[in-house]
Amino acid sequence: MKCFNHEDREAAATCQRCGKGLCRECASKYTPCLCDDCFEAIQNENHARKVAELEQRKQSRLDKLSFTRWDLMLNCLLGAPFAIYTIYTLIVESYGISLENILVIPWMFCLPAGWRTMSKLIRLGESGNTIIFIDTDSAFYMFVANLLVRCAGAFFLGIPSFLFQIYKMTRAKKAVEVATQEALSAAQR
Ligand SMILES: [Zn+2]
Ligand SMILES: [Zn+2]
Repeated sequence: MKCFNHEDREAAATCQRCGKGLCRECASKYTPCLCDDCFEAIQNENHARKVAELEQRKQSRLDKLSFTRWDLMLNCLLGAPFAIYTIYTLIVESYGISLENILVIPWMFCLPAGWRTMSKLIRLGESGNTIIFIDTDSAFYMFVANLLVRCAGAFFLGIPSFLFQIYKMTRAKKAVEVATQEALSAAQR
């Protein structure tokens, strides 16, 4: 068998992918032993796989961002009635403008965010253990305790939860930007 690239040379090896004959010089070009066409084909396959991977990552980050956005929007929708009711009360009862009266508006607005954070924490805590209700009484006390803990969460965790959510969204946005840039530059190469 002759070398595929050099008709005057005897083949010393064969391409591991397609079996073409290669002379000593051509065979030593790549490791493992490949012809030019197969080397390029493998490069292209690897590149295509990488582009697909980056595209997939971009998509998953976009999904995460839209979830975070929706989560934040839900808290705004739930918080708006509280804030409106607070403003309404402040006006109707003519409390006047003071720092506490102004601060109570965002605090009330964030109550649902705190409630939801606390509920998430409770769910996380419960996921490990099985809860066995012994009788109706203890079920009732558990329910009340649960409710009180959630109220406490709403009270204390509202504003921090809301701020953390905004932070999470900006982080998700940045992650999408990075992934988009990476996918784009990989596709252009
Ligand atoms: Zn080949
Ligand atoms: Zn050759």
